[in-house]
Amino acid sequence: MAVKSFDSPVRNESDQEYLVEVKNLKKYFQTGSGVVKAVNNVSFGIKRGETLGVVGESGCGKSTMGRTVLRLYDATEGQVLFEGKDVHKLGQRDLKKMRRDMQMIFQDPYASLNPRMTVEDIIGEALDLHNLASGKKRRERIQDLLRLVGLKPEHINRFPHEFSGGQRQRIGIARALAVEPKFIVCDEPISALDVSIQAQVVNLLKDLQREMGLTYLFIAHDLAMVKHISDRVAVMYLGKMAELASSEELYERPLHPYTQALLSAIPIPDPEVERTRERIVLEGDVPSPMNPPSGCHFRTRCPHAMESCAKIEPVWQEVLPEHFVACHLYNQEIMGDKVLRP
Ligand code: SF4
Repeated sequence: MAVKSFDSPVRNESDQEYLVEVKNLKKYFQTGSGVVKAVNNVSFGIKRGETLGVVGESGCGKSTMGRTVLRLYDATEGQVLFEGKDVHKLGQRDLKKMRRDMQMIFQDPYASLNPRMTVEDIIGEALDLHNLASGKKRRERIQDLLRLVGLKPEHINRFPHEFSGGQRQRIGIARALAVEPKFIVCDEPISALDVSIQAQVVNLLKDLQREMGLTYLFIAHDLAMVKHISDRVAVMYLGKMAELASSEELYERPLHPYTQALLSAIPIPDPEVERTRERIVLEGDVPSPMNPPSGCHFRTRCPHAMESCAKIEPVWQEVLPEHFVACHLYNQEIMGDKVLRP
């Protein structure tokens, strides 16, 4: 099968579809002992109204990528286009305007809310920043937002410690929604919550998306977590994209050996299937992003690693429609006749 490779997976004919386009994005950190390549040449697009899930082990760069997309970190190289405008090239005034459109929900609802501020102050701060409401209107707007996220409007004067973990995350969501954004980066918003609460928060995010036409970048550390919310899923490893496809396709037909291993670790509710299926155990830890392996960064843990994997970095290519993978097993030029046909 002929494969195409792209600098960016965003094709010209469908550019309008994308609310956010990330092109060859790099974010490096200089530390005392060297350069950490936290995000290393990543390209993808997020369509209007969709949820793109991003998955990977801790330290793979997914949170740094989310923050760089929002320009909470400056990019080392590359572009983030929001409605066609490069977020990293905007002046302060335009950036402030764009911040209304692009919001973030943080992982830790305990740490991300100021314990000395009431719910009114926390949500009101976002309204004040953009001069969206004052006086009675401001208070009414905050009460409406509380209702919207499933909290009681009479809780407006309470402090964060008076709420449960799930409720605090709802406050975080209300704060993000206060400025009526188009796009929200959800940075592991359910990882710190009890399993019983996780589904409620995911359902709330899905309902809000439907009602308000929101677009999400949803970051999580395992594939099971993103399954129910994501339209498409990207898998990251050591600062790079390993695979990206529609949710259905990725779970049915994972191509990258790393995705296959992550999927094989998800327990299956049917005990019969669970007993007989093959589990791929990855050896070793994730290498340091300061000193990643040559060629394919995954080669030190990959059950299919070959000689060329140490020498040549795999190309990010579209091997099936809208299914991207970076692995030599699917590369005609490297594998010749032995190329795997997805
Ligand atoms: Fe494994 Fe090689 Fe593919 Fe990397 S390029 S995932 S080492 S087979």
